[in-house]
Parts: sequence; structure tokens; C-alpha cells
Amino acid sequence: MKICEVCGLPKELCVCEEIAREIQRVKVYTVRRRFGKIMTIIEGINEQEIDIKDLTKTLKAKCACGGTAKEGRIELQGDHKKKVKKVLVELGFSPDTIEIR
Ligand SMILES: [Zn+2]
Repeated sequence: MKICEVCGLPKELCVCEEIAREIQRVKVYTVRRRFGKIMTIIEGINEQEIDIKDLTKTLKAKCACGGTAKEGRIELQGDHKKKVKKVLVELGFSPDTIEIR
């Protein structure tokens, strides 16, 4: 059984990540990479509070695209700004704290 380092409760009972999601300030924007490839960048994820690998997996599945997570940033292939916001809200992130640029 995994114990949460923040509240000391077993992971099944802990709501730290849910609370963290509500207050996370997330930025979503697109950049153009080499060969004109568009990437959607999701920034501002606190890796201490949010399982970024799990989040990346979910986003990749929902957007049906490839992507990676590194240094608190998620990069998805293609322009998925609208979809990303929708998915983040479904996951419990507050729409007011998600900034789309
Ligand atoms: Zn906790």
C-alpha cells in the first residue's frame, strides 16, 4: 500500500492530487517546430503534486497523438489546445486556471 507523503493517508483515501489539480495554473499553447510540425505544450504542472507521466498518458490517449513529458512540461504532437482543456477539466483541473494562448 502506498502512503501519501503530503497527508500521510493511504493513496486510495488521499485527495491531495485532486486538490492540487484544482489550484494548478496550467498554460496551454502551440509552437511550430522544425519541418513546420506543430506541438501543443502544457506547462505549469507541479510534478510533486501531479503524476505527470500518468497525465501525459491520458492526454495522448484522448488526443490520439504522440507526446512526451519532461521538466514539468507535456508536449503533444499536433494542435490539441481545445481538446487538452476539455480533458484537463474532465480530470478535475479548474477551467479558470487553464490559460490557453
Ligand atoms: Zn495526500
